[in-house]
Amino acid sequence: MDINNLLAFAKGRGFFWQSAEIYGGTAGLYDYGHMGALLKRRFETAWLAYFVDTNDSYHLIEGTSVLPERPLVASGHAARFNDVIVGCTKCRTYYRADALLADIGIKVSEGASAAEIDEAVAKNGVKCPKCGAPLSNAKPFNMMMDLYLGPEKSDKAYLRPETAQSSYLNFYREFNILRKSLPFGLAIIGRAYRNEISPRQGLYRMRELTQAELQIFFDPDAWKVDLDAVRQHTVEVVRYGKSEIETKSIGDLVSDGVPGFYAFHMAMIDSFYKNVLGVPKGRLRFLEKGGDEKAFYNKVHMDIEVNVESWGGFKEVGGLHYRGDYDLTSHSKGSSQDLAVNIDGKRVLPHVLELSFGVDRNVWMLLDVFLTGNSDRRTLGIKPYLAPYNVAVFALQHDDGLLRTANAIRAELKRHFKVWSDDSGSIGKRYARVDEIGVPFAITVDFDTIGNDTQNSGTVTVRSRDDRSQTRIPIKELTGYLYGAIRFDPYKAFEGFG
Ligand SMILES: [Zn+2]
Repeated sequence: MDINNLLAFAKGRGFFWQSAEIYGGTAGLYDYGHMGALLKRRFETAWLAYFVDTNDSYHLIEGTSVLPERPLVASGHAARFNDVIVGCTKCRTYYRADALLADIGIKVSEGASAAEIDEAVAKNGVKCPKCGAPLSNAKPFNMMMDLYLGPEKSDKAYLRPETAQSSYLNFYREFNILRKSLPFGLAIIGRAYRNEISPRQGLYRMRELTQAELQIFFDPDAWKVDLDAVRQHTVEVVRYGKSEIETKSIGDLVSDGVPGFYAFHMAMIDSFYKNVLGVPKGRLRFLEKGGDEKAFYNKVHMDIEVNVESWGGFKEVGGLHYRGDYDLTSHSKGSSQDLAVNIDGKRVLPHVLELSFGVDRNVWMLLDVFLTGNSDRRTLGIKPYLAPYNVAVFALQHDDGLLRTANAIRAELKRHFKVWSDDSGSIGKRYARVDEIGVPFAITVDFDTIGNDTQNSGTVTVRSRDDRSQTRIPIKELTGYLYGAIRFDPYKAFEGFG
């Protein structure tokens, strides 16, 4: 599906659209409608159940979106959270330099300096794409959004550029309240803000976004993961300096020098995408970054990429970053508080493994990967537990007896599931409507249901979205049947949970 069709679908079916749309909208700011908000919440719930709730030492916290200046100076964001931009000398349009060059087929690395950009602009005679005038010299632009607190607006603060910082800032207190052992994980699902110069591609590059991030604090000398459970697990990966995708077992990656704890989490993420989200094999890969392309503090850095047709190929939906002790070292220095902890008499400044996911990007990806059909007849074939609505209940016709029974079924099912109700229009149209929004099961109350003298009395049809099959099920067995078909069990999704 191309990007415009996907955006039109998302707008037309209540998933998402530009914020302040009635005023013309603003690039990079999106609102979720009733259907999108549910889908996003489903993704977050599955993410939490899988990455956090399966581990007794991992915990969900919430931090503020507004952070004072000092921690973001200490973390390096105030000085280095920059994009290199170029401006038009005539029409004053600004461009993200690497994106502008990429659009005309000139590749520069993600971390290219202003000088490298100037060189590429001069060498290729790049002009303003809008008006053709010469471009100014490239310069770094800090992407954090700043604000000023207090009546005199004297205290500088920032909207956080990533949720991760809140986990580092809360590590020491949480560690001491909780188990006082490593590894120890803090997860946050929350908003982050980036003043993107060229917001684009729908939910890909946004100015306000939701991240789901897990920071695992650990002692690099002592962290033992269950490598044997995942040694045979294979992942698709593009190693740094190579251009082709290779299929590698976790065992091979460890032999090739990838740290065991890192490779273990590659398998965990791979299983999340393939088994929890259902992304088909071949559409997911890890892309290793090195040299200028990775943050200098990362010891190992891989992007998680999914082949998303509407974005034109493999695009980043998350990342796995071994950040060393950079974060706690920076905040120890910045706050003048020693954030090292005591483990059995040994002083340890924990290292961090970060599992980072862009929630909005993943929501978009789910629509891209799982919408099939054409504009006349679409089906959103996502996993039942990710569907915004779990089940639809219809009365076959607008008949008092049918409606009374349908309403009674709804009242019972609503205690357990998100129920879609619709009693108008032909049954075929109603099925088509729920296929489009991904409802996995549709229950129809017909005259057999309320009749006295057939073997089908007290039963309803349950129609499956995926194969369109219909089965008659006794009303009193519906709840159990649906539980079996919809329930999400994270332990079945990953061999490494043991
Ligand atoms: Zn211009």
